[in-house]
Amino acid sequence: MTTVPNQPRDRIAELIAPLRVRPGATVRLPKDFDPGYTGGISDKEAGVELLQRGVTMLADLQSRLAAQQTDGLLVVLQALDAAGKDGTIRHVMSGVNPQGVRVHSFKVPSAEELDHDFLWRYGCRLPARGEIAIFNRSHYEEVLVVRVHKELLDRQRVPRKGAVWRRRFEAINAFERHLTGNGFRIVKLFLNVSKEEQRKRLLARIDRPEKNWKFSEADIRERGYWRDYQRAYADMLTHTSTEHAPWHVIPADHKWFSRIAAAAVIVNALDGIDPQYPVVDTQARRELLEVRDALEHG
Ligand code: ATP
Ligand code: MG
Repeated sequence: MTTVPNQPRDRIAELIAPLRVRPGATVRLPKDFDPGYTGGISDKEAGVELLQRGVTMLADLQSRLAAQQTDGLLVVLQALDAAGKDGTIRHVMSGVNPQGVRVHSFKVPSAEELDHDFLWRYGCRLPARGEIAIFNRSHYEEVLVVRVHKELLDRQRVPRKGAVWRRRFEAINAFERHLTGNGFRIVKLFLNVSKEEQRKRLLARIDRPEKNWKFSEADIRERGYWRDYQRAYADMLTHTSTEHAPWHVIPADHKWFSRIAAAAVIVNALDGIDPQYPVVDTQARRELLEVRDALEHG
């Protein structure tokens, strides 16, 4: 049984194919992925219908996922500051039932979190069967911010520091393999913004009073490590894009396109699960009809 005609599915597959990081490929940033790419769609207006269609499909698939209760979906969102993580979550999830979706924003770890292994706090917040969990920042910070700022690794008190990043990549791949083998799909999205577009967005946070609350000096400080982050992201994409949990690099210089692309990758993953409403058996159906009869006449 199919939920929607095939045409939009083909369009989605075609749209997201160039964004997928081929497992085993060595990624170089910014060379390999253009933050300004728009998939041949001319402008925001031309993309409105596509986004709307994606949002509608997502709502239908999420409702089925929740009813079926066998599989779950983890959406990992990674990006540098001002790439649009919050707006992506808001727009892409606008049509879904909030009861079936949880968003977790991971910040600087607490003392309790630092007392555990590096995957502990993420493991505590995984989706249940039937749920979608969105990680706004994720276990990947452990090979990004912690790699760029090595003093953070000292705070983690890991006993062995040799080949720590390689061992973390392996641990993450095994963690995700375990999840996908147990009925949890994983969508990993890197919102790829350019340095120039980030500059414009940070300026807008200063210039526009209604955006002042978003401004953080920490974002400016982190911007100073741009090259280190690009390198850390490229290495992360190279080592953790796997067949079971591939990365997609979402071009993020045009917000309208990044929302279409993010929705498309999520719809595609849910479509792969192909969740169905449970069908009751003949006996249960007969009993339902008896209750119905009683209700109607009582
Ligand atoms: P926004 O700024 O859009 O509200 P955000 O995700 O940037 O969202 P902030 O509260 O600004 O949220 O920042 C969270 C900070 O926590 C980031 O600087 C991030 O690098 C840091 N962080 C996340 N995970 C870890 C980690 N494992 N170790 C150290 N720092 C981390
Ligand atoms: Mg921030």
